[in-house]
Amino acid sequence: MTGNYEAWSEDSKYGLRIPSQVLQKMLNLLLENKGTETGGIMVGYYNRRYDCAIVTDFSGPPSDSKRSKNFFHRGINGLQHWINKLWQLQHRRYYLGEWHFHPFSNPSPSSIDIKQLKANAEEKSYSCPEPILFIIGGDPNTKCDYKAFVYLKGKGTIELFRGLENI
Ligand SMILES: [Zn+2]
Repeated sequence: MTGNYEAWSEDSKYGLRIPSQVLQKMLNLLLENKGTETGGIMVGYYNRRYDCAIVTDFSGPPSDSKRSKNFFHRGINGLQHWINKLWQLQHRRYYLGEWHFHPFSNPSPSSIDIKQLKANAEEKSYSCPEPILFIIGGDPNTKCDYKAFVYLKGKGTIELFRGLENI
């Protein structure tokens, strides 16, 4: 069982928290996934100070996603319906950003990843001007590495760093 994941911007203004049970569920999904990039969206809510996104659930790859060993372009099939349902039925959870997996590789974002994050920030139907990108790299059978980023209007993509209470 893995621990909670928490990471913050250098100025401590933006944080991301993925509770251990959610992260474990993500890693379990990766174990079934044989060497292809995969991913989806993350949903949840912000804490009361509105400085930390807390992930409560995530999607796998929608059926229209494009995937290969070193490429993942998330599709959209079914997502809007799920997002609407989360908002209405599950205590106002909403879209927080994206996650994906770089199998046997490091979790650094590609230039395409950065471009997609910016496009998601501008996507009106997500109502999320500051989306998060969480990347898992490595091998879920042995060791995974994580990196997290947030896209900020006027600042671009900045990295969120792990604190001392690591996994
Ligand atoms: Zn990527």
